[in-house]
Amino acid sequence: MDKDSGTSRVIPVMVPMPAERPYSYAVPEGMPVAPGSIVRVPLGPRQVAGIAWDGDGGTVDPKKLRPIEAVFDCPPISGEMRRFVEWISTYTLSPPGMVARMLLRAPGAFDPEPPQQGLRLTDNRPDRMTTARERALELARDGQAWTRSGLAHAAGISLSVIDGLAKQGVFKTVELPPQPVVAPPDPLYGRPELSDGQAEAAEHLREQAARDGFSVTLLDGVTGSGKTEVYFEAVAAALERGKQVLILIPEIALTQAFLDRFHDRFGSKPADWHSDLAPKKRERIWRQVAEGQVRVVAGARSALFLPFSDLGLIVVDEEHDPAYKQEDRVFYNARDMAVKRGHLGNFPVVLASATPSIESRVNAQSGRYDRIVLSSRYADAALPDLKAIDMRKAPPERGGFLSPVLIRAIGQTLERKEQSLLFLNRRGYAPLTLCRVCGHRFQCPDCSSWLVEHRFRKQLICHHCGHNRPVPEACPECGTLDHLVACGPGVERIAEEVDRHFPDARTIVLSSDMLGGVKRLRLELEAIADGEADIVVGTQLVAKGHNFPAMTLVGVVDADIGLSNGDPRAAERTFQLLSQVTGRAGRSGRKSLGLIQTYQPEHPVMRAIISGDSEAFYEREIAERERSSLPPFGRLAAIIVSANERKEAEGHARALRLAAPASDVLETLGPAEAPLSLLAGRHRFRLLVHGTRRADIQAYLRQMIATAPKPRGSIRVQVDIDPQSF
Ligand code: ADP
Ligand code: ZN
Repeated sequence: MDKDSGTSRVIPVMVPMPAERPYSYAVPEGMPVAPGSIVRVPLGPRQVAGIAWDGDGGTVDPKKLRPIEAVFDCPPISGEMRRFVEWISTYTLSPPGMVARMLLRAPGAFDPEPPQQGLRLTDNRPDRMTTARERALELARDGQAWTRSGLAHAAGISLSVIDGLAKQGVFKTVELPPQPVVAPPDPLYGRPELSDGQAEAAEHLREQAARDGFSVTLLDGVTGSGKTEVYFEAVAAALERGKQVLILIPEIALTQAFLDRFHDRFGSKPADWHSDLAPKKRERIWRQVAEGQVRVVAGARSALFLPFSDLGLIVVDEEHDPAYKQEDRVFYNARDMAVKRGHLGNFPVVLASATPSIESRVNAQSGRYDRIVLSSRYADAALPDLKAIDMRKAPPERGGFLSPVLIRAIGQTLERKEQSLLFLNRRGYAPLTLCRVCGHRFQCPDCSSWLVEHRFRKQLICHHCGHNRPVPEACPECGTLDHLVACGPGVERIAEEVDRHFPDARTIVLSSDMLGGVKRLRLELEAIADGEADIVVGTQLVAKGHNFPAMTLVGVVDADIGLSNGDPRAAERTFQLLSQVTGRAGRSGRKSLGLIQTYQPEHPVMRAIISGDSEAFYEREIAERERSSLPPFGRLAAIIVSANERKEAEGHARALRLAAPASDVLETLGPAEAPLSLLAGRHRFRLLVHGTRRADIQAYLRQMIATAPKPRGSIRVQVDIDPQSF
């Protein structure tokens, strides 16, 4: 810094903090900093990584101005990406620093990887030959450099053999460039023969991916119609013109079979990105995406914030999936953000689903999106035959939850040596435990929810905050021993019932809280796909995206579960989930059956599922949304105010309500207790802001928050634009 003249350059740097704007820093003389550079800057007593932003740093009191410490040797974050950060910040009302923070989540990747030591063959001969030595030399004769352990492993010999040869000068040490995490994909590798319907759809997508230009296409095709093969053609077209591709997949950590499928088509796997990656791998992928070495990423929603240098296509698979919504710090829906990303980058976005969101269907109807329909399964594999079991007419036996009709069907499936899936979207053994003597119910001390019994773990667990305790023998209220009763079923309890009826069957229970985490789940899912289970009892985790060839029966234990919570999206969600889960049956072409246990078989959702007439269902739902001007026909936002004390939360929510600006197009409703009025010890109140489609809901919210008193003490205000439930 030029202290004497005071003319040193000042630039804005976006730091990963809840700051409303970038902070200003001085650029030391000669430091090569440009917009997008990742830099290390002092922040209070700490040093943090930030992104050099656009524009100038403004005027700052020179005494307060601190210099940038260092520039990382890393490709800069593109202007496109910086505009994306700003846009998300404006749209979600989150500080831009918190959005930028999502981009800076692989700190080890900002510095290049140190080169690895490699070995290359010289002209020197070893003093004597052995079989082991011969094997090593044979491999190394290709002239390539090898790592020490790589060569030992490939030759099937011990490291000491390699070291011995190196000592004699048979190998020399060279520097190896960082190894690519994945090999480059080959767009021509395994092109499949497409059906006529697929070919037409693929042609449309290929055309769009083959040139610059923003577009959104809804690829709407029944489960098993071959959507993946179709969008792979768009991926191929983007790769052919040298673009990077992002494929978003809701549960990529658990659908690793997708990577193999990609490999079959492109001759190499995509890089996969999700929260369960080991830190080292995470950093290498981040770095290689920035450097352009990784061409295709298959990732969870956070992959949107990878530093692509030349992105040319995003595919959002299962675009309707609620897992795309992040409800933590920055509240965003990755599907909607992907569309914006395509808009900013001027490239196409493909949304694929068998059960598109109402939003996407409406956008297709209005012409904002293109829509391509694939209406039958590939190779004429039949969709499962679907039937409702009216639980009023065919009730389960006492103490059970499975109708005799369903139990018979499981028996028949077993006889045919095929697989059954029993789906219940409820983890644990029983959702409620109470004392038969005094009626005491076990409730979470920190949340307004019941504790769920998990019998395998022998615990009562809160599904909202994780609070847990051993299942007691005596009631804590009246002290009576052994009189606790489990009310209602969870997957563990259904598995118990299955075991009673089919003690010799191989039964697997699958839910996200299984001991052993993601690794164990992956193994179990593989085992199911390989036919190593007869009966699978699982939550929505098994409903998504898996291909279980031997599965020919799907039983939905309680189809009504999500319908009665008063949420206007309940019907849509239930329809999507039931379509997905019944779609697991019959994927390999065998005749298959879906049985849906319900107490309301006449409900429009059940009728749509059973009849397969989704059009009527969509029409109804869309008309309903339009009538009440709910999204996408109107704008909606939720404001959640939480605090340690109920009074504080409610008081601040009221203050916000009073600060709502006058408007003809927007109104504020509430405050009311939020759906989960106590969560992890915090009391929660909710305001809803609702208005017409054209209304500027962000400006309205910003004014409201600015006018209200600043939240003090433990009070926190969270804004959720386009909330999932309302
Ligand atoms: P969707 O994504 O629509 O549920 P998939 O893309 O998974 O459907 O396809 C269903 C099954 O059909 C898969 O096993 C897939 O390998 C197979 N399939 C789809 N299209 C083709 C094709 N053109 N050639 C060979 N197999 C195909
Ligand atoms: Zn809790």
